[in-house]
Amino acid sequence: MNISVQRPTILIIDDVPTNVQILAEALNPLYRIKVASSGANALEIAQRKPHPDIILLDVMMPEMDGFEVCRRLKSNNETSNIPVIFVTAKNTESDEELGLNLGAVDYITKPFSIPITKARIRNHLRLKHQADLLESMSMIDALTQIPNRRNFDTTFQSEWKQAARNNSTLAVIIIDIDYFKQYNDHYGHGAGDVCLQMVASALSKDIIRPGDMVARYGGEEFIVILPGTTEEEALIVAERLRTSVENLAIQHEYSKTASVITISAGITSQRNLGDNTIPQNLIDSADKALYIAKENGRNRIYKV
Ligand code: GH3
Ligand code: MG
Ligand code: MG
Repeated sequence: MNISVQRPTILIIDDVPTNVQILAEALNPLYRIKVASSGANALEIAQRKPHPDIILLDVMMPEMDGFEVCRRLKSNNETSNIPVIFVTAKNTESDEELGLNLGAVDYITKPFSIPITKARIRNHLRLKHQADLLESMSMIDALTQIPNRRNFDTTFQSEWKQAARNNSTLAVIIIDIDYFKQYNDHYGHGAGDVCLQMVASALSKDIIRPGDMVARYGGEEFIVILPGTTEEEALIVAERLRTSVENLAIQHEYSKTASVITISAGITSQRNLGDNTIPQNLIDSADKALYIAKENGRNRIYKV
C-alpha cells in the first residue's frame, strides 16, 4: 500500500538501454523513474519499500523473461498488488493472452504511441490509487482513526505465528473504558464519540515502539499487541496507558470509580505459543484478567 501525494514511482524493466530511455524521457517530468535491466534486479527493486506504483515490463530479456518476472511478482504478497503493464515487441494474440492471464493490467505492443501509453499509465495509476485508498480505509476505524478489528486480527495472527516460530514472548493488553454506558447516557452519544476519539488518540501516543500496535477492538474496548514483551514490561506499558487516559481529565460525574474517564486493563504475556495453544487463548487470558480488574474496582490493571 502506498498512498502518497508525491509523484508516483514507475519501475521500467528492459534490458535494452534505448528502450528504457524512450519511456523514461516520455514519463520523467510526471513520474519518478526507477530502472532495472534484468528480471532478477527488477524483483529486488520491486520488493524494496516504498514499492513502485506501477511496473512497465519488457518480455524478451536474457536469463529471466518478462512473463516469468510477472509470475514471480504476482506470487509474492509484497508485490502482487503492483499493476504490471507489458511493453513489448511480442505482438501475437497468444503472447498478449498469456501476459494478461499472468495478471498484467495491460499489454502494449511496440512500436507504441507515447500519448496513448501515457494515458493508459495514468488511468491504471488512478485505479491503483483508489484501490490503495479503499484498502487503507478498510483497515482503519472510521471514528477513532486507529487500526480497526480487521487490522488487529490480521496483525495478531502473523505476530502470533512469528512468536510461536521464534519461541519468543507475545503480550496482549485488553482495555475497556469504565462506566462508559453511564457516560453516554448522561452526556449523550456525541460526547461519547468524542471521548472514544480522545482515548484512542491518547493510547496511540503511548504505543510507539515499532511492531507494537493498538487497535479498536469493539465499542469501547481497545487491544494492544506487544511482540517480544515480558509480563513486567507489559505491566509498565499498561500502567502508562491507564495514567494517560486518567490525565485526559474527561469529566465523568457518573462513574463510581473516579470523577474522570478511566480504563481497566487485562494483560497477559506468553511464550512457547506453538505448544498446543491457539491465538484465541492469549486473548481469552487477557480478557479474564480484564474481568478481574473490573470486579476489583476498575481503573486498574490485572495480569494472568
Ligand atoms: P464497565 O465499567 O463494566 O465496562 O461498564 P460500561 O458501562 O463501560 O460497559 P457496557 O458494556 O455496559 O457499556 C458499553 C457502552 O459503550 C455501551 C455502548 O452504548 C457504548 N458504545 C459502544 N460503542 C460506542 C460508540 O461507537 N460510540 C459511543 N458513543 N458509545 C459506544
Ligand atoms: Mg465493554
Ligand atoms: Mg466499559
